[in-house]
Amino acid sequence: MVGQGGHSRRRSFGFKGAVCGLCGANGVIWVLQYCSNILNYLFARGYEEVPGGAELEELAMQVRRHTGQGLRARVDFAAVCDAFGVALRVAELEGRGGGREAMLVPLQENRFGIIVDPTPRGGWSLVPQPVRHDLRRHRLRFRLGHELAHTFFYARRAGQTPRRRLFDSDQQEDFCDRFSRSLLVSRRRIADMEPSVEGLLSLQQACDVSLEVAARAAAAARPDLQITIWFERTDGSLKRQLGPAESERPPSGAVPLRERRQWVAVAQA
Ligand SMILES: [Zn+2]
Repeated sequence: MVGQGGHSRRRSFGFKGAVCGLCGANGVIWVLQYCSNILNYLFARGYEEVPGGAELEELAMQVRRHTGQGLRARVDFAAVCDAFGVALRVAELEGRGGGREAMLVPLQENRFGIIVDPTPRGGWSLVPQPVRHDLRRHRLRFRLGHELAHTFFYARRAGQTPRRRLFDSDQQEDFCDRFSRSLLVSRRRIADMEPSVEGLLSLQQACDVSLEVAARAAAAARPDLQITIWFERTDGSLKRQLGPAESERPPSGAVPLRERRQWVAVAQA
């Protein structure tokens, strides 16, 4: 039964006729199958503790290097999934209700399946039409990076189903978020970023991530910058999305991004 089960599961991770959330191509058949790669051997033991910040940065850099993307701004996730032995499927989970947005499923033959639901809490009707397509892709890319990070906590052996070594925790969740941001937005790009709203927007676009992911990555790596984002509610009032608690109102230098219903400010700390 082992062989049969593995076969049907493997096939179920292909998906047809969907819009590819990662490359944006319409009607693409996007099926990633297992590919043996050095990453499987590098991280084969599986972490028994959540690594610290410096190790996290090094891990993200190793993944970039081993997939030939050390210098790229926009990470190609097809190559990364291939290296991790991961097949991606986009499906509806519980994202709309604020519940589960992604799942990591260990599979036979040293592989994983990752299922991602890019739907934001409250559904798509709450998201302004012009930004839906980008938001969908950005959410997919971030969630995928997060789930890939969870694979580091599994022991992997050729031909066998990965075994979990460290169970989930808030600390692991935080690690996975930070790993995803680190993989998506490289330190080198952040170091070169102009200390301005334009600089942040250009970093965001180059890395193909949400403004919040770019801002959190930049804020973590550049203590010289104070980055604040506000979200504009339908009644016109503003809610701070990211940044210092005292910044309830945008300062005079804040820039409104009307299409996204966001305001952003970048200042020297
Ligand atoms: Zn998680």
